[in-house]
Amino acid sequence: MEGIIAGIKRSAVHDGNGLRTTVFFKGCPLKCVWCHNPEGIGFKPEIGFYKEKCMGCGSCVTSCKRNAITMENGKPVTNRILCDGCMDCTEYCPGDARQAYGIRWQLDALVKKLLQDKAFFQNSNGGVTLSGGECLAQPEFAVALAKALYEEGISVDIDTCGAVKQDIFRKIAPYADTFLYDIKAIDPLVHKHCTGRDNEQILENLRYLCQNGHRVEIRYPYVPGWNDGECEAIGKFLAKLPGITKVKVLGYHNFADGKYDALDLPNTLPDVKVLAQDLNRPVSILRSFGINAVNGMLDD
Ligand code: SF4
Ligand code: SF4
Repeated sequence: MEGIIAGIKRSAVHDGNGLRTTVFFKGCPLKCVWCHNPEGIGFKPEIGFYKEKCMGCGSCVTSCKRNAITMENGKPVTNRILCDGCMDCTEYCPGDARQAYGIRWQLDALVKKLLQDKAFFQNSNGGVTLSGGECLAQPEFAVALAKALYEEGISVDIDTCGAVKQDIFRKIAPYADTFLYDIKAIDPLVHKHCTGRDNEQILENLRYLCQNGHRVEIRYPYVPGWNDGECEAIGKFLAKLPGITKVKVLGYHNFADGKYDALDLPNTLPDVKVLAQDLNRPVSILRSFGINAVNGMLDD
């Protein structure tokens, strides 16, 4: 069985308890305007090209069997329709200007790699977090990976936007420790404006997890001008649900500018800056509903 993985980050400290390895799956059903991981949006492997590192040597052009790269004004241009994501060109690039976003992993090989850090997981009460993109948008691979790790005694957290069929949650829940669940808005029109989709399925899946005894930590990305008017509605909605251990309000940043450029994607990041103290207001509104809310830029 094969999964397409955008990246693997070891020693992550913000993706659940303890030291964790985060596996970023490729592909997401949402299109959040503030997406910090644009390399996780598309489902297929793709090349990131960092032009400032390029020396113009042309090795990538000759290495590409699909003739997908041409030199224009001394720099390579990739035809993303012709490119099949083989990643050969990344191996020939002396400047490290070409980055592979999306590697095909066999299940056994990925499990073996993740188990290399088993001792760190055990000593820190950590584990593996499946993230993305949306990890559950590759459901068979995600469930098989979670099961294999669970059977090795590894804690598995699921970082999800919730926009998948409920049946997938039913299948993965027996192997999951905690769901790190994004709530971006309660008003369906605001949600659609921010992410391209309404939130009926997302809220329904959250109800299902909470009402069936699963541990859930909510992530609320707070983006002024987009979803900052949703705090009260989020508080009201979450206050009725059992099983929520924490609501982490996440500060927005636009550090992903360079990645949009490298992927030839239109940069949708809002031009706003959020400071740690700006999160005090949403945190205190959520707390007024009896919710254990924390400032994600100050606390964990
Ligand atoms: S990933 Fe493969 S097909 Fe795409 S540009 Fe590089 S060598 Fe060519
Ligand atoms: S191989 Fe790398 S450094 Fe050489 S032209 Fe291609 S991207 Fe630039």
